[in-house]
Amino acid sequence: MTKLRLAIVGAGPAGIYAADILLKHERSFDVSIDLFEGLPAPYGLVRYGVAPDHPRIKGIITALREVLDRGDIRIFGNVQYGRDITLADLQQHYHAVIFATGAVRDADLDIPGIDLPGSYGAADFVSWYDGHPDFPREWPLEAQSVAVIGNGNVALDVARVLAKHADDLLPTEIPANVYAGLKASPVTDVHVFGRRGPTQVKFSPLELRELGELRDVDMIVHDEDFDYDDAARAAIASNKQIFVIDKVFTKWREEESGSASRRLHLHFYAKPLEVVAGPDGRVASFRYERTRPDGAGGVEGTGEIRSVDVQAVYRAVGYFGSPLDGIPFDERRGVIPNHEGQVLAEDNEILPGVYATGWIKRGPVGLIGHTKSDAMETIQHLVNGQASWWTPEDPSEESVTELLESRGVAYTNLDGWHALDTHEIALGEPEGRARIKVVDRDEMVEISRSGQ
Ligand SMILES: Cc1cc2nc3c(=O)[nH]c(=O)nc-3n(C[C@H](O)[C@H](O)[C@H](O)COP(=O)(O)OP(=O)(O)OC[C@H]3O[C@@H](n4cnc5c(N)ncnc54)[C@H](O)[C@@H]3O)c2cc1C
Repeated sequence: MTKLRLAIVGAGPAGIYAADILLKHERSFDVSIDLFEGLPAPYGLVRYGVAPDHPRIKGIITALREVLDRGDIRIFGNVQYGRDITLADLQQHYHAVIFATGAVRDADLDIPGIDLPGSYGAADFVSWYDGHPDFPREWPLEAQSVAVIGNGNVALDVARVLAKHADDLLPTEIPANVYAGLKASPVTDVHVFGRRGPTQVKFSPLELRELGELRDVDMIVHDEDFDYDDAARAAIASNKQIFVIDKVFTKWREEESGSASRRLHLHFYAKPLEVVAGPDGRVASFRYERTRPDGAGGVEGTGEIRSVDVQAVYRAVGYFGSPLDGIPFDERRGVIPNHEGQVLAEDNEILPGVYATGWIKRGPVGLIGHTKSDAMETIQHLVNGQASWWTPEDPSEESVTELLESRGVAYTNLDGWHALDTHEIALGEPEGRARIKVVDRDEMVEISRSGQ
């Protein structure tokens, strides 16, 4: 074998890093990589998850783009594995496949009322404000008071975007309809609820501190949540992140609550119990049980039930991967079962030629940087596993374009992405904005294909 023909499914950071790492890896064979992406634009959650007011993180796109722009990876956008291309197709034209399909949907939260009108998944809201083409363009922002359930960075993103004045988001790349929706929002109070204590949060210190910098938004924390026990004090003393997080809370506790028109409340030791409907059948309040430390690093219920009036609830309790046709799936964890990136069959035996990386391999936790180390591990096994690769009937590069064309798949390529990128930047220019995203899928494909 002189050349490995590799398919990678998913052009988020995990897929792009995997391709880059393989191309730079010491090996005894040539490599030719095709990257299949279901969306007409690459970069996965960096484009469609990271918040628009985090330009420094969005800037990781520049590094990912440099990898694609080298031109040694073919990208097929608007090609969905399972619909436009199947496992049998891949086995016919490639020696191996890496799945890097990430996660786009919300994990469930099993409490009564969670499916009421006015109760939403954070992932859906994120997809809306980041202009994901497969999500509705309209978002009902009618609530004055909102509950956000979760104590991770996604909960902070959602709470921040809800509480922030739309004009302060205008310099970012938010789509026009998102600006209009947020501008009309009557919100005054955003309540964030976490089951555990302030030293047990999953927030990044930077993201937390940022909340205190929002214009015309007061931060509200409650003294009763800061009666630290030994475990909390030990966490502050031994963990740098928790130390900084505690400093941020302390500052807010010392500040006089001002006269801002919006407030962001952080509630700890609050276990979600129920989303309660009003007479109109829509969300009217959120009930929770006060918890306390159990002395073993967790929390236990106190039996004290509280309630806050809200007209909308957002659950930010994690993302969840989606199953892929013909590929084993762990329904409990929402990942492809694997050993260090080598996909496992039901009997736990390694499935030849099939690999996974990124959030679909590891679960939806960790920052973009983690997908790089993750990809290294997967690529090491791919390189070492040469003996178990598939034996494709037709590994030629043309065979894949011919196959997609024969099926009438309107795929986009790197030139197409450049055309769309240039178009979005030009849309933003007259308004002094970095870009304005095109959101409609057909329009994205049309612009891309006219430039390729
Ligand atoms: C709301 C939110 C905010 C975040 N903010 C930050 C942050 O500020 N900083 C940070 O470091 N990290 C952040 N992260 C984490 C970061 O986004 C992830 O670590 C990273 O994107 C995971 O990479 P991935 O490539 O595994 O998955 P993804 O980024 O999800 O990419 C997967 C790609 O696969 C494609 N795909 C899926 N199924 C198919 C299919 N069947 N066929 C073809 N293509 C398919 C998808 O369209 C997508 O493009 C955030 C995550 C979320 C959810």
